[in-house]
Amino acid sequence: MEHVKCLIVGSGPAGYTAAIYTARASLQPVVYEGLLPGGQLTTTTDIENFPGYPKGIGGAAMMEDLRSQALRFGADIRPGTVASVDLSRRPFAVAVDGGAALAADALVVATGASAKYLGLPSEERFKGQGVSACATCDGFFYRKQDVVVVGGGDTACEDALHLAGLCRKVYMVVRRSVLRASHAMQQRVLATPNIEVLWEHQPKEVLGDERGVNAVRLAGAAGEERRVEATGFFVAIGHHPNTEVFRPWLQLDEQGYIVTQGKSTRTSVEGVFACGDVQDPVYRQAITAAGSGCMAAIDVEHFLKR
Ligand SMILES: Cc1cc2nc3c(=O)[nH]c(=O)nc-3n(C[C@H](O)[C@H](O)[C@H](O)COP(=O)(O)OP(=O)(O)OC[C@H]3O[C@@H](n4cnc5c(N)ncnc54)[C@H](O)[C@@H]3O)c2cc1C
Repeated sequence: MEHVKCLIVGSGPAGYTAAIYTARASLQPVVYEGLLPGGQLTTTTDIENFPGYPKGIGGAAMMEDLRSQALRFGADIRPGTVASVDLSRRPFAVAVDGGAALAADALVVATGASAKYLGLPSEERFKGQGVSACATCDGFFYRKQDVVVVGGGDTACEDALHLAGLCRKVYMVVRRSVLRASHAMQQRVLATPNIEVLWEHQPKEVLGDERGVNAVRLAGAAGEERRVEATGFFVAIGHHPNTEVFRPWLQLDEQGYIVTQGKSTRTSVEGVFACGDVQDPVYRQAITAAGSGCMAAIDVEHFLKR
């Protein structure tokens, strides 16, 4: 069985940053890229908020830069998805799809969290062209325009409030007749003049053309249809942390995110570290993922040199 000092699971900003730091610390990291090499940013167009790119950069190009930087210092980046782990003793046993089996002295989990979408075919068609699951990331592109936010929880309210500060009008489409968000959050949403809550409505189709989204078709409780003119369609119905493989071994919170200890990336199992969106239900940004990837690498180094 192949023995590695540091195994990194995932190739988003968190995984590649952990790879850059551990490679430069001579820990010879092995990275498994998973089904989405480069992570979530490869599914979007322009990144304007990652420091160091004053003119912005395409998501895929930025991740190619991170990958090249990790390779430059000797990270061993491999295709493959980690299928199962045994974290009951060290070195940890790791099985990869395709049959590879490894023993790892330290493990970095950087498997991200996938945004949930509604599953409409038209939503898929306009992803990156008006459909987004990240108001913090993409709201700026819709300044002074009309947008739709879907969802009734805290995240949807936060997104609606963020967008209300940028956009002319925010339609908040809520399936039920109440919001699930905290009372304080509800009050803020309902008191914001340019947010209109469309109670008991559900999106049926995102409409648009080659320039992107231009309207949304909704259905009300009694099946009546309504068309809302909007250029942005923000889905805020939650995220799914990619923790299935680790669920039997690591402490997770009630939403399935990996719990880390204090201001570290240490998990409930000594020698296993988590970074990026997989342990972050709050910020979920490329820069915070990269920052915690750096922390994980430093935590690994301290752990292995102890
Ligand atoms: C449409 C969209 C636009 C966005 N725009 C911005 C933006 O403009 N600015 C910004 O800062 N943030 C943006 N974000 C958020 C940003 O993409 C995430 O915060 C960031 O990618 C999280 O990085 P990560 O490394 O934690 O995980 P991810 O990028 O999600 O990467 C996870 C990695 O883990 C791998 N993986 C999963 N399971 C396994 C497994 N079992 N074995 C091996 N590998 C596995 C995947 O293949 C993937 O490589 C956007 C997100 C989306 C969806």
